[in-house]
Amino acid sequence: MHKRRPKIIIQFATVFCALAFVPFLYFYTQFTHIEQKTLEYVEQLNRNKLEYSKVELQTSLLKIGASLRYLSNNGMLSQAILRPTDENLDALKEFWLLIARTQGYYSQLRFLDATGMEIVRINSGEQFIEVVDQERLQYKGDRDYFSFAKTLGDYDTGNFGIDLEREQGSVVQPYKPAYRVIYPITLNGERKGYFIANLDLNRIYHGLAYKRDPSNLPSVTTDDGYYLMLNGGDKILGNRIEAHRDANIALQYPKLWSELQLNKFGTVREQDVWISFTTAELHDVEHVKELIFFVRTPLEQAATFTNDASYDLYQQASFIVIIILLLTTTFVTWNHNHEKNSLDSKIARAAMNGMSAVVITDRNNRIIQVNSEFTRISGYTLEDVKGQPPSLFASGKHQQEFYMNMWKVLEEQGLWEGEVVNKRRDGSLITEILRIQTVRDRFGVIQFYVASFVDISQRIELENRLRELSEKDPMTSLWNRRKFDTEMQTQAMLAKRYSDSESAALALIDIDHFKRINDTYGHDQGDEAIKQVAECLVAQLRETDIVARIGGEEFAIIMPNTPLPEADRVLNRVRVAINQQSKLDITVSAGVTEISNKPQATYKRADIALYESKSLGRNQVSVLSVNETQTIA
Ligand code: GH3
Ligand code: MG
Ligand code: MG
Repeated sequence: MHKRRPKIIIQFATVFCALAFVPFLYFYTQFTHIEQKTLEYVEQLNRNKLEYSKVELQTSLLKIGASLRYLSNNGMLSQAILRPTDENLDALKEFWLLIARTQGYYSQLRFLDATGMEIVRINSGEQFIEVVDQERLQYKGDRDYFSFAKTLGDYDTGNFGIDLEREQGSVVQPYKPAYRVIYPITLNGERKGYFIANLDLNRIYHGLAYKRDPSNLPSVTTDDGYYLMLNGGDKILGNRIEAHRDANIALQYPKLWSELQLNKFGTVREQDVWISFTTAELHDVEHVKELIFFVRTPLEQAATFTNDASYDLYQQASFIVIIILLLTTTFVTWNHNHEKNSLDSKIARAAMNGMSAVVITDRNNRIIQVNSEFTRISGYTLEDVKGQPPSLFASGKHQQEFYMNMWKVLEEQGLWEGEVVNKRRDGSLITEILRIQTVRDRFGVIQFYVASFVDISQRIELENRLRELSEKDPMTSLWNRRKFDTEMQTQAMLAKRYSDSESAALALIDIDHFKRINDTYGHDQGDEAIKQVAECLVAQLRETDIVARIGGEEFAIIMPNTPLPEADRVLNRVRVAINQQSKLDITVSAGVTEISNKPQATYKRADIALYESKSLGRNQVSVLSVNETQTIA
């Protein structure tokens, strides 16, 4: 059984896969379709945010560019450089304060003289704006951007690029990205110094929020993948800050990164988010040719767009899976039962066509099936006996008690075995070794009786013949001495049991002077004479009498239910008949007695009686009863 289980599981899996293949393809396509739809929704959702931010940034940069060029060429600056009176310097400071306050893009506006010393400086932030005091102005001649500035031509604009805001030489915390634009100031052919504007990228960045909602802010990276502006988190400028080296989208979102190499905008699904991206080309910015904008939409949020569709699809899929499971189960169970049934029926057929005759009856003991062996033995076909009780076959050889006992045993033990004599269709008898088994249902109620038998009629006949041979005298066909002895035992037992019933009689007969017959006519004639006597005995006596040849020319006759006087009469008739029929004038002597419960004593009495007949001159019958013997004794 344990070997059958994996077979069923494999069968189940195979059928399930076969049935599920086409639905699987269908649902796979449908789910892919939903995925595509989700992507479209996400892209639609994010496209506005990204485009807004991109255009806003590009516009801001254009505006800033124009504004700075104006500031660097402004007369107030040249006045303050050429004639740095308090009045002129104050006017410049006032003007810059106004610019910084209204435009809000700048974190610093400065003028450095040709040596690198700060002459005027405005600091600006979200909450404050200030003119830096004379004492706090610093020397910047040693900074890298100053060296860069000195290399610029008179009419160049120096985009020094993006760096971190520093104060007194050290980086300002929290990190602040700064974008420095440097304009050389050359007046009357002489390099007077430099106008430097630091753009406040954070403030510019916050202006990029679509519909002023900060949650719509995209993340912005440089074209090498490092963050420039980040909505949440501060791991920016990984190319400049060692600790931020891993904050690179090429590492964080490899799929996005490879998509970026192919397209200028798009949407990808990566890890547990959808990412929409776009790129913006920059002009005139050192190191950075392109900016990457991207926004992330969590899967759950994206799923809400297609919730209904995918819910429907999941429902359909579940329904189909259940149907397929049911179909598979039904098929496998049917197949399993079919295999089992066909095996069972094969076994049953094999058993039915075996050596035994089989008769099956239902719970009402009506025949429902017989096999060919039964038909062969009994002569009955199924059509002859269907619906009939098996008592149809009864031979009348068994008493009612026999059948009652059979039913009792069957009811109690479910099995009965025994030898039964039944009747064939042609009325002849058949001796069977019969075995009846009951078949019960799971409640223990008998549903069928299965009877099988083998025909032992021939064997019984053979046995009878063998027994007869061993008990018959070959010459006369009378019973022999052995049968006579057995019969005497039986009769003695009967006498013992039914002492008051009519007793049986025993007669011993001996041919008179047989030696002479032999001597006179020869041994063969002697044999003939013995046979004639035997024939005469059989003819004269009743069928129920046991006539035996118990010696050379000695015979014994057991006569059941025969009183002594009756036996005497019969014996005399026999004696006369033998003599009359004999051509050789044979006479016989006989001794008769009743059979008592002791076989040897009975025999002895008959022998004494015979002896008496011989003694009294032969050709006569003598009777010796039990009573006479007792008297003699
Ligand atoms: P009695 O009247 O006293 O019986 O005389 P009897 O000659 O018959 O003597 P007994 O019965 O003692 O002898 C039997 C004889 O019968 C002996 C034997 O030669 C002969 N005999 C026994 N059996 C057979 C037999 O089968 N065939 C033939 N032909 N003769 C037999
Ligand atoms: Mg004799
Ligand atoms: Mg004799």
